[in-house]
Amino acid sequence: MPHHAERPTKICPVCQRPFQWRKKWKDVWAEVRYCSDRCRRRRGAPSAAAEPPDSAAQS
Ligand SMILES: [Zn+2]
Repeated sequence: MPHHAERPTKICPVCQRPFQWRKKWKDVWAEVRYCSDRCRRRRGAPSAAAEPPDSAAQS
C-alpha cells in the first residue's frame, strides 16, 4: 500500500465518531460497524435501545 494512501473510515453508530481502518480488520472491514468492542457490546445491551434519541444529537 502506498504511503500516502488514505485509510477508509466509518462512523460508529453507537458513539457517532469516525474510526479508521485497522490492520486487525483487514479481512472483515466490510462487516465492521463499531469502533470498538465496547461500542459493539453497548449496542447489544438492553439499555441502549431504551436510550432517548436526543442523546445522540449532541455535537
Ligand atoms: Zn463507537
